Amino acid sequence: MAIDFEITSAANPEIKSIRALNTKKGRTEQGAFLSEGLRHVIEAARVGWVIRRLVISKAARQGPLLEEARRACVESGGRVLVVPPALMERIAKRDNAQSVIAVIEQRRRALDDIPGDGAEVYLVLEEARDPGNLGSILRTADAFGISGVVLVGACCDPFSVEAVRASMGSVVNVPLTEIDRDGFLAWHAGWRGATVGTHLKGTALPGLRDLKGGVLILMGNEQAGLSAPLSDICETLVRIPMRAGSDSLNLAAATAIMAYEATAAGFAEPQ
Ligand code: SAM
Repeated sequence: MAIDFEITSAANPEIKSIRALNTKKGRTEQGAFLSEGLRHVIEAARVGWVIRRLVISKAARQGPLLEEARRACVESGGRVLVVPPALMERIAKRDNAQSVIAVIEQRRRALDDIPGDGAEVYLVLEEARDPGNLGSILRTADAFGISGVVLVGACCDPFSVEAVRASMGSVVNVPLTEIDRDGFLAWHAGWRGATVGTHLKGTALPGLRDLKGGVLILMGNEQAGLSAPLSDICETLVRIPMRAGSDSLNLAAATAIMAYEATAAGFAEPQ
C-alpha cells in the first residue's frame, strides 16, 4: 500500500523543485520532466519509465488506475504527494489542471544503439524549434510505429511541458536521440539503409514506395529547411506535391505524410 504525503504550501522545497520542471534549466538539472493526466502516467509506468513523484489533487477521483499509478511510483522509489487543487494549478501553471501530474525520469537512446542495418524507419529532425510541432511529430511517430526520432542540432526540448502535452503521452513510446550535426554525420557514414531528405526542390513523392529496408527520413528546420550538409547525404530529396504558389507545409504535417508513406503505405516492408 503506497503512503501519501500531504503538502499544502507552494513554498515546500519538494513542490518548488517540481515547479522548476516547467523550465529547461530545471529539467536539465534534475534529468526529469512533467507528465500530466492519469492515462499518460499509467502508460509511462507500464512501459518502464521511472516515476519519481506522483502529485495527486485532493479532488482526484479514486479508483484502480490511480492505485496502479501510486504503486508504480512507490515501486520505482518515488513519493506520492497529495496537494490541494489550487496548488496543482500552480504546479501545472494553468487553471483546471489535471488531477494527476507525474515527475518522470528522462531517457534517451544513444545514436550508436540504432542498428545501422535494420529494416526500420527513423525520423531525423534538423533543428526543429517548435515544441508543438515536435510533440505532434512524436504522436505521429508513435501512431505509425516509427522506430525512433533523432533530433539533430539545436532542437527544442522534447521534454518541455508543451512538447509532452502535444505528444499526448507518445513521448514515452518513441525512442529519442539527441545529437549535434557533426556527430550525426559521423554516425551516418556507417548507415547502410536508405536516406531520404525532404526538400521543396526535391522530386515528387511517389518514387519513395520502391524503397525497401532501413530508412532515415530527414526533415528540415521550420524556417531554413534542410541544411546543405544534411541534404548532401541523401540519396533522394523528395517534395510532397502542393498546389502551385503554395509556400510549404507545416513541419509536423509534412512529417506525418512522410511517416505514413514510409509505414502504412509502405516503402519499408513491415517485419
Ligand atoms: N522555407 C523553408 C524551405 O525553404 O525549406 C520551409 C521549411 S518547411 C516549413 C519545414 C520542413 O518541412 C522542410 O524542411 C521539409 O522537411 C518539410 N516540408 C514542408 N513542406 C514540404 C513539401 N512540400 N515537400 C517536402 N518537404 C516539405
